[in-house]
Amino acid sequence: MIQITLPDNSKKEYNPGITGYEIAKDISPRLAKEVLSITVNEQLWDINRPIKEDASIKLHKWEDEEGKHAFWHSSAHLLAEAVEKLYPGVKFGIGPAIEQGFYYDIDLGEKTITDADFKKIEDKMLELARQKEEYKRSEVSKDEALKFYSEKGDEYKVELINDLEDGTITFYKQGDFTDLCRGPHLPDTSPIKAIKITSVAGAYWRGDENRKQLTRLYGITFPKKKLLDEHLEMLEEAKKRDHRKLGKELELFTFSQRVGQGLPLWLPKGAQLRERLENFLKAVQKEYGYDQVISPHIGQKDLYVTSGHYAKYGKDSFQPIHTPEEGEEYLLKPMNCPHHCEM
Ligand SMILES: [Zn+2]
Repeated sequence: MIQITLPDNSKKEYNPGITGYEIAKDISPRLAKEVLSITVNEQLWDINRPIKEDASIKLHKWEDEEGKHAFWHSSAHLLAEAVEKLYPGVKFGIGPAIEQGFYYDIDLGEKTITDADFKKIEDKMLELARQKEEYKRSEVSKDEALKFYSEKGDEYKVELINDLEDGTITFYKQGDFTDLCRGPHLPDTSPIKAIKITSVAGAYWRGDENRKQLTRLYGITFPKKKLLDEHLEMLEEAKKRDHRKLGKELELFTFSQRVGQGLPLWLPKGAQLRERLENFLKAVQKEYGYDQVISPHIGQKDLYVTSGHYAKYGKDSFQPIHTPEEGEEYLLKPMNCPHHCEM
């Protein structure tokens, strides 16, 4: 028997190979219906992965971040499967779960995806989700993983695998779609009941502007239609509270094309609001023992060369201000820290 320790420190004994799902079922059938992922000794696992040794566990439901993470991660795979079905031959970059949903970076080749295609992708995802496709985990060697993606012709995955440490690499397969992933995922696609593709954007492969621009599809999914409706309603409400809209309506700030785009001109009410925020911030900092210092808005270029900022950000910052007489170069300060170090 192995000993399983629950979050309240109570212990239960099970046969080795017990899964998170089975433990949930043992606790209550209702919990078993709701559990989405499990933490086993600090690691996030699939709920159908066998536990072979003594372990401390925590079960996660939709309400938990870890539960949503597994749900949205699984949804990213489902998105990729649907896109591959609709646009054969596309290649995949990465597809993580994020704070609100998930995205997938895709090389569409000559093809494009616009807002008009979202419905078609959502429908395909729903159709696949209803087939209750299992997310099957398998451990592969680095060579096997490289062979799989070389044969598939997906150079992005090949690059990712090459950067991985040797050791166990995991694949997850649902339907006929295989993805390189650490997991965890849902046992199958059936809990994914409501789907919304939210936006499409360009994203450079590995965030490098010198590399290929891929298509990033964002989406969000829910276990109930009602939750999606609530989410969409919340987005509508957030739109009403958009600072660009409120700023104008409440006369907090304005913009002038002559002054420059994105440069706010704070009006009296906005200035008052700012002052309150600043005072609040200063009070809290004081409470926590911080002392205030003040440094100039510019600094000699040499300061940032020394700090290393120039090598990293120099070409993207505003160009130096020259003083012709002394031949000095000054930069707008990108950060306070070099000045603070000098102090
Ligand atoms: Zn995954």
